[in-house]
Amino acid sequence: MINSQVRVRFAPSPTGYLHVGGLRTALYNYLFARKNKGKFILRIEDTDRNRYVEGAVENLISALKWAGLEYDEGPDIGGPFGPYMQSQRLDIYQKYAQELISQGKAYYCFCSAERLEALREEQQKQKLPQAKYDKHCLYLSKSEIEANLEKGIPKVIRLNVEPNQKIEFDDIIREHLEFDSNNVDDQVLIKSDGYPTYHLANVVDDHLMQITHVIRGEEWLSSTPKHVLLYDAFGWERPVFAHLPLLLNPDRSKLSKRQGDVAVEDYRDKGYLKEALINFVALLGWNAGDDKEFYYIDELIEKFSLERVNKAGAVFDLQKLNWLNAEH
Ligand code: GLU
Ligand code: ZN
Repeated sequence: MINSQVRVRFAPSPTGYLHVGGLRTALYNYLFARKNKGKFILRIEDTDRNRYVEGAVENLISALKWAGLEYDEGPDIGGPFGPYMQSQRLDIYQKYAQELISQGKAYYCFCSAERLEALREEQQKQKLPQAKYDKHCLYLSKSEIEANLEKGIPKVIRLNVEPNQKIEFDDIIREHLEFDSNNVDDQVLIKSDGYPTYHLANVVDDHLMQITHVIRGEEWLSSTPKHVLLYDAFGWERPVFAHLPLLLNPDRSKLSKRQGDVAVEDYRDKGYLKEALINFVALLGWNAGDDKEFYYIDELIEKFSLERVNKAGAVFDLQKLNWLNAEH
């Protein structure tokens, strides 16, 4: 990865409006790209059809535009480029899932919802810390698999996670992390509707889009061991990970609507200055190491570094935002 151009992405799922936490993730990626003369990519992760919200993509794009966080790249569609849309890349994910199957690193699972439910109940009774698939379908014979496929029995594709492995990775903010593969389920890669799961699509795209740094919220940290297993299964180099601290209410509970507005568009509509909001969001979990109280975007670009992102949760203080907005 040394000598390669910095490439980062903001990869929201279109499940609602852009909220302040999403804006922070986008901003840190943007600042990091601009600081390192790299590329900032927008990728819409719209593979969960149940959670898709009409109009959310337009909302995300217009909120980013208002904030001034323009993205640099998109698919070549012969016009002004839009963001990458995962729903338009389904063949790619299928191809990579098949590649893992042919290497014995993934397998078809034909288990019914009833069987999985019974398994879950059984494991609950045994007080296992978490429900895990029992690899039943890993041991189907070739002819059984072919017969099932022929009959059109609903199926998913699962990753074959080797037990008793230490999964280790480094994170710029959280430092060295270790997980036990016994705690990782044989995760689904392709769902029964043919769409990939977040894990597969995210890893395949980060690889194909040559993403060098994955900068995202801490809520995704528990997915990272799964992603690391996927990078290793494909034999791909991993990106550098940086998980951003959670956003908190002043009472240190997880940020919720109680604090006030969390949608970026609400601030825009109320006439807040985008400079105030950007400045406020930049300082949610990061500091420039000096005591200035207000930075314009060029100063933020100049000063930004992932090393100065805090580990501890960042308190969302609406009064501070109002102060920044009034003073500037
Ligand atoms: N689609 C995920 C989200 O909605 C992306 C997480 C990531 O950046 O990997 O935030
Ligand atoms: Zn199965």
